[in-house]
Amino acid sequence: MAEITLDEAKKEAASLRTQLNEWADAYYSKDAPEVEDNVYDQSYNRLLELEKEFPEIVTPDSITQRVGGQIDNDFTKVEHPIPMLSMGDVFSKEELKEFDQRMQKLVGHPVEYNVELKIDGLSLSLEYENGKLVRASTRGNGYVGEDVTANAHYIADIPQTLPEPLTTEVRGECYMGKEAFAKLNEEREEQGLSVFANPRNAAAGSLRQLDPKVTKKRQLSTFIYTWVNPPEGITSQHQAIERMHELGFHTNETGRKLATLDEIFDFIDEYTAKRNSLTYGIDGIVLKIDDLNIEQELGNTVKVPRWEIAYKFPPEEQETIVRDIVWTV
Ligand code: NAD
Repeated sequence: MAEITLDEAKKEAASLRTQLNEWADAYYSKDAPEVEDNVYDQSYNRLLELEKEFPEIVTPDSITQRVGGQIDNDFTKVEHPIPMLSMGDVFSKEELKEFDQRMQKLVGHPVEYNVELKIDGLSLSLEYENGKLVRASTRGNGYVGEDVTANAHYIADIPQTLPEPLTTEVRGECYMGKEAFAKLNEEREEQGLSVFANPRNAAAGSLRQLDPKVTKKRQLSTFIYTWVNPPEGITSQHQAIERMHELGFHTNETGRKLATLDEIFDFIDEYTAKRNSLTYGIDGIVLKIDDLNIEQELGNTVKVPRWEIAYKFPPEEQETIVRDIVWTV
């Protein structure tokens, strides 16, 4: 980092926080981002860099210390005793290598990862009592989310009843497929309404509806990838996904258990190439330590789990036409 005084760092950090708070509010609360993600990420990373160089300037309410946006709306609130966190991210293979080295050092030996696609949607928690869906909620600020149970009843791939009387919680991503997104924006344009900037915002705007009938009309889908309290015998992330699939959850079939960086880099290259041809949006690849006991041991920082990381795709210039709507990926 170029030479900078404490005073200059304080001023720059304050101005970055004001700007990032405004962008985050538009993105999380209004589902209408004002800038592209990479613009947000650049400012966010600059703030992180300043706070790392001058730890004394970190404020408890800094955007680097909290998850998501404000939730001062009319939804009933749901507490998450086990917080729904954000995820650390990297933007190059070199940084991914550093992450792997850090993990190996913390754990004391090489680790295997479950490598998954990073679905471009919003986190959703599903709680079951005796096999019945009793509550669905958003991540919100990580500790308190919004109750969207009535809306979840209208998402076709969410099991309303499990084949076994389990009392359990799973989490995953609620998303809108590319076709449904294109159709929705087409209809909105015809009706003279504003269009959604991307499927992630369309999904968030469609799930977070006080009138669940609106959600019903939008075609939302889910990929479930986290079992909050897996039963005995489930000791790895890949096993958890297999078992959740057997229970009827919609899981993503592309995840792979991989042990070496070369394999992981091949996976990244494969899905960077396939990204446009998928029927849903992805914005990166997630590496999760596969062993759930190691995950438990490593725990979380105030904002992110230590045992997982997202590799974010670089922004692409290329534009593809999906049903007459320009799709920038
Ligand atoms: P994030 O979206 O970068 O990553 C964390 C989330 O990834 C998790 O909460 C989960 O919902 C999701 N996810 C998708 N697939 C997953 C998988 N297979 N396993 C686990 N989790 C998976 O983090 P965030 O804190 O929600 O948001 C920060 C990001 O949002 C920024 O990096 C930025 O790109 C974007 N953002 C953009 C703006 C803007 O104005 N454009 C504003 C705020 C945030």
